Amino acid sequence: MTTRRKFLSGSIASSAAFLSACEAVSAPVTAGVKPLVVSTWDFGLPANAEAWKILENGGRALDAVEAGVKIPEGDPKVQTVGYGGFPDRDGHVTLDACIMDEKYNCGSVMFLEHIKHPISVARMVMEKTPHIVLVGEGALQFALANGFQKENLLIPESEKAWKEWLKKAKYEPQVNIENKSFRADTLPGSKENHDTIGMVALDANGNLSGACTTSGLSFKMHGRVGDSPIIGAGLYVDNEIGAATATGVGEEVIRIAGSFLVVELMRQGHSPEKACYEAVQRIIKRKPDRAKDLQVGFLAINKTGEYGSYALQKGFSYALTYKGTHQMTDSKSVY
Ligand code: ASP
Repeated sequence: MTTRRKFLSGSIASSAAFLSACEAVSAPVTAGVKPLVVSTWDFGLPANAEAWKILENGGRALDAVEAGVKIPEGDPKVQTVGYGGFPDRDGHVTLDACIMDEKYNCGSVMFLEHIKHPISVARMVMEKTPHIVLVGEGALQFALANGFQKENLLIPESEKAWKEWLKKAKYEPQVNIENKSFRADTLPGSKENHDTIGMVALDANGNLSGACTTSGLSFKMHGRVGDSPIIGAGLYVDNEIGAATATGVGEEVIRIAGSFLVVELMRQGHSPEKACYEAVQRIIKRKPDRAKDLQVGFLAINKTGEYGSYALQKGFSYALTYKGTHQMTDSKSVY
């Protein structure tokens, strides 16, 4: 059995830079604690609360993560996920989502329009088809054939923001970075211009699952898909080891198979935080010139109930729930 001591010794052995950048034992010790759920950004708090209702009653992590991420998906005030999400540059709200259980089953939808809860369509792809990914019109047809309702997801606030954006129409996906002028605080009704909910959970039976859902980068090119619905990039679950999810510029996460990398680093003995740190370092190594202007954050838990995160920039935070308490935590970051 893997012990906390083993995780710590792995992290101590491999990087002096990491140790100077953070204190490996500063997070609350949750090893041995289950159930437990973590999710990205502040909209993770109500999402975790929903997931917790299932987890505290001994429910399955898969059910918990689906129920949890449906909260921001259905909330029009969250303009980066699901209903109410910012559209692409052509005015279409296109959604990406994926889900993965404790048995390596997974499902994904990409470039899906008109469906409020893409995570539930992804789960249905996983459970009702021989496939893993459905995209665009095919995903929509599948959803409608399985009882989902076709809806207009473009709310007036997001349409207004898009029309404002069109005045300058800079054809570069915008990324929020603290202290940078293109932070999206100026967009009406919105704090951010991107952000994904990625949620990973460990249930009372010791099983892991994860879900990840987003409307992607605001005002992206029509047809663009990010990391979030890509198994191994935006989400990965290995029930022997741990689970990880990502947020931020999806292109950079895809390039390094980010969530899979984090899980594999945990397999090598790294703590969740150290694994996330190493994945962030991999992004910097691949694109040293660009990394300073990008945001990517990773969030992970391991099989023993430890959790951790790391981001490129300040500003990434995540919601943590265990023993019935919910709290927001600021992620450590490189810059
Ligand atoms: N990762 C998402 C994407 O690239 C966006 C985000 O999380 O900020 O679509």
